[in-house]
Amino acid sequence: MRIATFGSHEDLPEVKSRHRDSRDYPHGIAFMDGQYLPMSEAKVSVLDWGFLHSDATYDTVHVWEGRFFRLNLHLDRFFRGMERLRMKLPHSREEIEGILANCVALSGHKSAYVEMICTRGGSPTFSRDPREAENRFIAFAVPYGSVANSDQLKRGLHVAVSETVRIPPNSVDPTIKNYHWLDLINGLFDAYDFGAETALIMDTSGNIAEGPGFNVFTVKGGQLKTPAFGVLPGITRQTVFDLCKESGLTAAAADLTRDELLQADEVFITSTAGGIMPVTRIDHTVIGNGDVGSVTSQLTNLYWQKHSDPAWSTAVNYR
Ligand code: PLP
Repeated sequence: MRIATFGSHEDLPEVKSRHRDSRDYPHGIAFMDGQYLPMSEAKVSVLDWGFLHSDATYDTVHVWEGRFFRLNLHLDRFFRGMERLRMKLPHSREEIEGILANCVALSGHKSAYVEMICTRGGSPTFSRDPREAENRFIAFAVPYGSVANSDQLKRGLHVAVSETVRIPPNSVDPTIKNYHWLDLINGLFDAYDFGAETALIMDTSGNIAEGPGFNVFTVKGGQLKTPAFGVLPGITRQTVFDLCKESGLTAAAADLTRDELLQADEVFITSTAGGIMPVTRIDHTVIGNGDVGSVTSQLTNLYWQKHSDPAWSTAVNYR
């Protein structure tokens, strides 16, 4: 299969054809083992430790109206994670940046969800020694997706707090973006059983930690707060801190109790998948007056404005 199939141009790399299966995959392009492939053909070996042991790190950046948002911060976090997990790739940072841009350009998506993954891989001799594994790099670009749909963005999400405890940071370091999601998925099922739309789970001290793919903020008396401990330091969370600085708002990372969450004036969650998303109901409690709060709206507007600012975003060359 040639790239022309995807509406792209001749000077982009060739897309090779591979094993197909009949399931529906989102339209998109992946890169793995040195080749660009349609999403439906990007398959990982069942012997890869990323699959067998969740031995992997990854990052997700988005492209909005043809521009990567804060790509450097995502690459920094990805490379830091690989270093901490003692993984090595044959690609430089510049090469990876080029591969991500090629995936987006080949997909043709102007708004995309772009993932870069490094798995432990496996050893050709099936050795149990992780030092003998050949680490594998995978990247892909699919249509942009959000934690909250357009109706939820308008009226605010209904979140339930699950008793599930996030995996302890001294077991799995949450600052290395990882696929240890059984706690988060369990929280999600608890939330669905409750009749809510998504979940927040606890840290090991019983404070609020984070949710499946997002951080959480409260606004109380004009001051913002987000959990400091046992969470992934999200790039969107960092962006909220940066926007607060620009807007003269104060934001702190500190322990956040369940009561503080329920008594907040405003609550919102943050993720590359959706940006800043309002929460208007937690468990049985209506937050504030039940409408999306003014600080949340102000930060959301600023957040999306920054997507066309060259200081915060980089254009994809679709050629
Ligand atoms: N927390 C967890 C566990 C996540 O997986 C994610 C993103 O996937 C986030 C928080 C939000 O991070 P970011 O804002 O970098 O997308």
